[in-house]
Parts: sequence; structure tokens; C-alpha cells
Amino acid sequence: MFEDKKVAFYTLGCKLNFTETSSIVAELLQLGFRKAMKDEVADVCIINTCTVTDSADKKCRQAIHKIVRRNPDAYIIVVGCYAQLKSKEIKAIAGVDLVLGANDKFKIPFILQTEGLVSDAVICSDTKCLTPFYSSSSADDRTRHFLKVQDGCDYFCSYCTIPFARGRSRNGKISDLVESANKIAQAGGKEIVLTGVNIGDFGKSTGETFFDLIKALDEVEGIERFRISSIEPNLLTDEIIDFVAGSKRFAPHFHIPLQSGSDAVLKLMRRRYDTALFAKKIDKIKSIMPNAFIGVDVIVGMRGETNEFFDEAYNFIKGLNVSQLHVFSYSERAQTQALKIEPKVTMEEKKLRSKLLLELSNVKLRNFYNGQLNSSHLVIWESTKHASNMCGFTENYVKVVAPYDAKKINSIQQVLLNSLDETDVKELKVKVK
Ligand code: SF4
Repeated sequence: MFEDKKVAFYTLGCKLNFTETSSIVAELLQLGFRKAMKDEVADVCIINTCTVTDSADKKCRQAIHKIVRRNPDAYIIVVGCYAQLKSKEIKAIAGVDLVLGANDKFKIPFILQTEGLVSDAVICSDTKCLTPFYSSSSADDRTRHFLKVQDGCDYFCSYCTIPFARGRSRNGKISDLVESANKIAQAGGKEIVLTGVNIGDFGKSTGETFFDLIKALDEVEGIERFRISSIEPNLLTDEIIDFVAGSKRFAPHFHIPLQSGSDAVLKLMRRRYDTALFAKKIDKIKSIMPNAFIGVDVIVGMRGETNEFFDEAYNFIKGLNVSQLHVFSYSERAQTQALKIEPKVTMEEKKLRSKLLLELSNVKLRNFYNGQLNSSHLVIWESTKHASNMCGFTENYVKVVAPYDAKKINSIQQVLLNSLDETDVKELKVKVK
């Protein structure tokens, strides 16, 4: 039916979005579509949107305009988080044919087969009805795969719209996810990153737990490495940390959202932990996995974050034994409780705070990398060629670089971390022996 029709897709936002786009496109390819080549005009374009900040919304609108201009006769489908929250706004953009919300996007193959290229349609189920879990997995290159294990969030942090955009917490069944991991292994995948919105909350819809999930996945033969993506500190139990330390396949790599190092701001954010709990988790990880990589998310400029609270947060973060900070600027979102908080932080101040934390992050990353030199690690080599080099990551997430050798792609190799590679000022790497 769609033989030789060309589909193009564009994804904004998080890894979860990329994973979901990939699964939708895989289904379309089975229907006969083929991927449009770069610079080739497509018959169908899918734009999977993000609404995490104001600037994400803006980027989505710009992307839609650009794609409509490049593919004037294409059937344009806009899906995802921004589409779920602002469907009418998106439908009003000239050239957009179909708008589908968070779960409705998985119906694209069905809609195209049964209804054809319907025009002027908006299908966005009410957020309360976003209860089914749609599984997805994807590969970003020939080595690293992403497996969606959970969707939605029940937390309602005061600054966040994700629970409105993606609905309540739900997840796949452990048996199905183990099967997906087995399939990835059979296809030659070596590394799987577990993704979701609030993955520590796994189990709400199946009566299982995240701990059960990681124990089951640890038995999957053929996968060399699992990474847990972002997990809330209050859900990162000592049981999970102990398990990772002794596991066969789970990497000593954690990504934990702190968001603020001030207890007063954490309260305003309605986060479910305080700085003492966060510090305890970091100490626990480092006491049994001293070489673990720990990435930490921080938001600057939240409403109510006074200079004093920021200073307090900065000093707390400075004292944490973590490897890298991911710094985000607070963005006003409609429907959120944070809009009631005073005072607002100016854009200038947000930029300054962001800069200070990014500088601190650079120091922390350099210290972490220096601490790993002259030690031996396992690296999985990736396929991308950078000039005449190739890159890979160790189990504890050190990015390493070596002369390109196609035979090494997707292989695992024991290496000795030799010295820092500073050729790219934006990204620290380590040369290997
Ligand atoms: S835990 Fe909080 S910040 Fe994270 S998705 Fe849920 S509501 Fe948003």
C-alpha cells in the first residue's frame, strides 16, 4: 500500500522521544515505507515534539515550519508532548495535517492503513486516559540501544508539565522487557540503556518493582552492559545500589536528578527528598563503587531561588563527590504550581548561575577523569568516525578515543586509560593504550 513512499522524521527532546520515534518508524517500514534520504523530499513527515521548556516549544514550532517548507506536498504529522498539551496551537500552523498526542502517536500505522491521509485531524486522548503502555526500543548506532521500560509520572513536581503531557506512571511487564532485551542481544546489541520518565517508579501497572526488573535483566545473555538512565534519589534504594555493585551487567554509572542543593528550594519544587538524603545516596554509591560515574541534574533560577538559596545550593553541590552536572534553566510552564511562587529570577541571574555551575561541572569532570588515568577498563567501541578517530565508553562512562579501526566497532576491549585528550575544548576524552 505504501511501497516506495518516503517517510522523514524529526525528533526533539529526550532519549525516550527518540526511542519512541524509532519504534513508530520501524512499523512504517514494515508497511512498505522507506526512509527519505537526506535532501530528498518526503511523502510523509513525522515530527515528535517536546515541551520541557519554552524554548523547546519554540524549537518545535521552528522545526515544523522548516519541514513544511522543505516538503510542501508532504503529509505532515506532529506528535508527542507539545502536541498533547497544545494541539490546537499546532494544528493552526499552516501545512500541519494531523496532530496526535502522547499515546495516540503509536496509532500512526493504524491510522494510515485504515483512514489514509486524513486531513485536518487532531487526536489527543485526555491525559487521564493515557493508561496503556506502548513499548519501544531503538539503537543510536550499532552499539548502544535504548529500551523504554516506563512512561508517565505521578510526582507532580511544582515546575514540571510532564505528568500533564505523558500521563500517569505505567510500565511494561518484566517478562516482555526481558524478551525485548533478548531480541536486542540476538541482533548483536551489546549495551542497553533503560529509559523512561520516572523509571524508579517502575511497577505501578504490573505490581512489579524496578529492583525485580534489574535482577531479571542482569540474566540476559549476550548483553554486556546495562545502564540505568535518570533515577529519582528517593527511589534509588540501597538495595538497588548494592545490587549494581555486585551485578554481572549493570554499569557503575548513575544519573540522579538533584534539581537544587537548597532544602528550601527543594520544598518549593515539591521534590520528595532533602539534601541530606541525596548526600547519603552519593556516599553509599562511592563507598562501595569508588569509581562510579555520577551525573547530576540541576535546575537554576527556579522561582523563589534567592541569591542566598543559590549560594547554599552551590556550596552543597561543590561538596558532593559527583562526576558531572547537567544544568538547566528554570522555564515558566502553564498549569504548574510554581507560577504562584515569588520572587522570579531574572534571565541575567539565571545565566550567571548556570555559568557558575557549568564551570563547577568542568572541574568535577576533569577531576573524575584524572582519577581514572592509569587504570584498566572495558570499552565498547562505537561506529561514528570523528576525523580519523573512533570513540567508546568505559563501564563507568569515561569517553575514550583511539585511531579509527572498523574491525573494532561494537567490540569490547580491555584498555589502559593513558592521558587526557584535550583537542576538543568542548568535550574531554581519554586516550588509551
Ligand atoms: S519526577 Fe518531577 S520532574 Fe520528573 S517527570 Fe515527574 S514531575 Fe517531572
